[in-house]
Amino acid sequence: MSKGRVTSGMRPTGSLHLGNLLGALDNWVRLQDEYECFYFIVDWHALTTPGGGDAVGFENVAFLRTRVKEMAIDWISAGLDPEKSSIFVQSHVPEVAELHLLFSMITPLGWLERNPTYREMVQGYKIESPSYGLLGYPTLQAADILIYKGDFVPVGRDQEAHVNMTRDLAQRFNSLYGKDVFPITKALLTEVPKVPGLDNVEKKMSKSTGSYIALSDDAGATTGKIKSMFTDPQKIRKDDKGHPDGCVVFAFHGIYNKDEVLTVRSECEKGARGCVDCKMQLAERMNMALGPIRDKRMELESKPKVINEILRAGAEKAQGVARQTLQEVAEVMNLPPKEIF
Ligand code: SF4
Repeated sequence: MSKGRVTSGMRPTGSLHLGNLLGALDNWVRLQDEYECFYFIVDWHALTTPGGGDAVGFENVAFLRTRVKEMAIDWISAGLDPEKSSIFVQSHVPEVAELHLLFSMITPLGWLERNPTYREMVQGYKIESPSYGLLGYPTLQAADILIYKGDFVPVGRDQEAHVNMTRDLAQRFNSLYGKDVFPITKALLTEVPKVPGLDNVEKKMSKSTGSYIALSDDAGATTGKIKSMFTDPQKIRKDDKGHPDGCVVFAFHGIYNKDEVLTVRSECEKGARGCVDCKMQLAERMNMALGPIRDKRMELESKPKVINEILRAGAEKAQGVARQTLQEVAEVMNLPPKEIF
């Protein structure tokens, strides 16, 4: 028995990395068994920022299709199951654009201008002239969620505010038109491990700094990146006493080598463990854990038609729900039917 509908999306701006896997995808996979899940690749959202270099954006669309395909492969390799969840591309359900337009009529401009994420994005991406689409992205996000009547959106503790605008818009719509067409979406808070960048234990793994391990990296590339991870700079020789809390390698032992992490800490602090061996042990554990994902990736890369079919079937199911919602919206808003007279 499903506990309700979960909706969530990801922007296909670049390669997925361990931060995406441990911070979102692993949780999405778990949710499939308890909720009816709609997971979508938000290609329109990727166009709200300019992009550049490797990153997709409205000024850099050359890789957009490739990124969408890669993301679908990563999702399914990580365990999203098309038999359990609807997996599709945002723009393959154009009804979302229609709901976005209708929502934009009832979204007060002040809500968008006060959105802290908008300001962070303008500063973070150094955008001189932000677009109408970027300012309005929370309205599009609300349409993405509410068109499928999403009860929950899985978020980390620091992202709870992202759901607020969707909840406010649902309440405003329901109150304006006198009917509870939309659910009041809630954040589904999840504890996820902190996944550091390779060069700094305090910073989150991120595509923008280039300091990440991609799901598409093979075992050799992963081992190479682990060898270059930041460690305690005061620990030069094996018998130097180390400080594991500032070490990126240690942080990953906490994720991929849980059974031995206490031993790693104690040996490091006593000077009974060298950084080279410590890194090789981590590489072995991490490569073992990522092996099944890589095998599935290789299999799917050779079967593009399978991916097409999964995305097509997912969009078809999602579109059925979206059309039904739009019909309810048209009725309460008194939009004229085609045969008006
Ligand atoms: S021994 Fe391991 S945990 Fe200690 S500083 Fe070196 S890499 Fe980090």
